[in-house]
Amino acid sequence: MVPNGSQRNLWRNETYRWPNRIVYYHINSYIDTEHRNQIVKAIHKIESVSCLTFKEATTDQEYYVNVTSEEGGCFSYIGYLNRVQQLNLQNYEIEVGCFRLYTIVHEFLHALGFFHQQSAANRDDYVEIVEENITEGMEFNFDKYTEATVNDFGEKYDYDSVMHYGPYAFSKNGERTIVAFEEGKEDAIGQRLQLSETDIRKLNAMYNCPTV
Ligand SMILES: [Zn+2]
Repeated sequence: MVPNGSQRNLWRNETYRWPNRIVYYHINSYIDTEHRNQIVKAIHKIESVSCLTFKEATTDQEYYVNVTSEEGGCFSYIGYLNRVQQLNLQNYEIEVGCFRLYTIVHEFLHALGFFHQQSAANRDDYVEIVEENITEGMEFNFDKYTEATVNDFGEKYDYDSVMHYGPYAFSKNGERTIVAFEEGKEDAIGQRLQLSETDIRKLNAMYNCPTV
């Protein structure tokens, strides 16, 4: 079936965007230099493809991304919240788990306003969510949002997005929880090696970056 152009996975509401394209962050002092460097490297990856600037929060800064490294996996709030908002990267070796470079980029894209790709309103035209393979209690990770909430800036569904889950995300039985309909994409979804071209275009559209 041909999509009707209503594919969306970014906050439509502009209040969730960082003012003046400046993202303030604080990396907690218990995070060692090696891990801190990896976080900064991820930040630079985002800066290098957008008009966003990341600045270390000073003590009088009232809103910023508070980067923690607690138990509980990798997670972030979605979009600018005008307060201190946590972004957690559970401690792993560099390039493992939450400390894979593009997993950190993924979490920061949440903080900038990205939902997961498979939350897009039109996702059922592109992937099947296999409910019976999802671990009990984890179903919320596969929520779909309405077009009123999220926007895709005219971009089509992006199997290659760094914001897409992999095929076995939250599987309880080793079977796929997400089945991509497009041939060749079944095991390609969920990459964490780069920002896709579509990810970059959406990010730049969301923050009204001047086109280069
Ligand atoms: Zn995520």
